[in-house]
Amino acid sequence: MKLTVLGCNGPYPAAGGACSGYLLEAGDTRVLLDCGAGALAALTAVMPPEELDAIVLSHLHYDHMSDMLPLIYRMQGKPKLAVYLPEEPAGTRALLAGAFDLRDLSQSGQIGCLRMTALPVRHPVPCFAVRCEADGKAFCYTGDTNTCESLAGFAGGCDLLLADACFTDALWAENKPHLSARLAAGLARDAGAGHLLLTHFTPGCDFAALLREAREVYPRAALAEAGLTVRF
Ligand SMILES: [Zn+2]
Ligand SMILES: [Zn+2]
Repeated sequence: MKLTVLGCNGPYPAAGGACSGYLLEAGDTRVLLDCGAGALAALTAVMPPEELDAIVLSHLHYDHMSDMLPLIYRMQGKPKLAVYLPEEPAGTRALLAGAFDLRDLSQSGQIGCLRMTALPVRHPVPCFAVRCEADGKAFCYTGDTNTCESLAGFAGGCDLLLADACFTDALWAENKPHLSARLAAGLARDAGAGHLLLTHFTPGCDFAALLREAREVYPRAALAEAGLTVRF
């Protein structure tokens, strides 16, 4: 499998950056995970979006889906792309109805050679962690979440964990919408993940602190970066 980071900012893009967007490839199967501001341009630099097998939107916050709107224009007159997404918020979901083949993300699905499962996580709007498996390899993406009891089991044994690591220790709290880098690292450790990629970086955040705090728990932790490709 191969993961390409198209964008890793949230909740808005850094100068020259992009919000959440990740291209997951397994064999001939290509899936876009999230499609935030700037992700569509980055994807288009790598492949024609209409050749995707599916798009998976972890949740419908704008930093994870706003580039779906201009994609509507690009897809006009072309076969409808399969888009897996939560049912709520209904008003945001309705923006995509008609333009795409919308499917319920809470159900397991087969996308090309990828077997996809989803787990509800803890965020202010319905959000799902996503696990994709093919050829004995497994990838897991937390989506946006704070601590979630069942997540380590869901991510268990995955080869690569892509985890929300928005906050340093100093900024994290139990009632915030995101994990800290340290908690993301604890998740990777508890799940027995082969590799950990930290993501969801607020412009201007303290990257050194995020990486240091994560590596105190999980020494192989790495920072996502637009353009980064990971093979596993
Ligand atoms: Zn977000
Ligand atoms: Zn969010």
